[in-house]
Amino acid sequence: MERQIGTTRLVVVRGDITRQPVEAIVNAANSSLLGGGGVDGAIHRAGGPTILAACQEIVARAGRLCAGQAVVTPGGNLAARWVVHTVGPIFRDGGHGEAEILASCYRTSLTAAAAVGARTLCFPSIATGAYRYPIEEAARIAVATVVAELPHHPFTEVRFCLFSDRDLVTYEMALAEGA
Ligand code: ADP
Repeated sequence: MERQIGTTRLVVVRGDITRQPVEAIVNAANSSLLGGGGVDGAIHRAGGPTILAACQEIVARAGRLCAGQAVVTPGGNLAARWVVHTVGPIFRDGGHGEAEILASCYRTSLTAAAAVGARTLCFPSIATGAYRYPIEEAARIAVATVVAELPHHPFTEVRFCLFSDRDLVTYEMALAEGA
């Protein structure tokens, strides 16, 4: 499914983010930037040791990455030239700033990707795996935040890559309703 938003194609697909034909992919990392499970593990496995080495260098220089922030490393062996690492909120009850942190993940990732010159970017569903953010609300925030930010950036395509059919349908509904 896709929608044209100004000069940007906004696309929702099901698949493996490590195989998406885009210039930059976003990693749902954790604050240590040392890799983990889920999409983080898949990206480090597919991209190889260059990504971890760049993450370690960032942490040595700037410390752990706060939730809602984003940093860029090379893509290593991935087809994507860059990986944007962002840290989602660990969902507690929705009353601890989770929505604002999640929106910040999308905003800071777009800014970081645009700053290195990426024109095509792919997001996973940040925080809805191990961090347990409810998928319907997370999808609404993801779509609304990206749509609001697109006019400020020169992306030709931004896609959301979902890992399951259920997640795909949820994001398609958010795109149909919110864009
Ligand atoms: P978080 O810790 O931010 O919740 P997770 O990696 O646990 O991050 O989960 C985020 C989402 O990424 C989940 O919906 C999960 O199913 C999905 N996911 C896992 N592996 C991949 C992959 N290779 N490509 C795309 N999405 C993936």
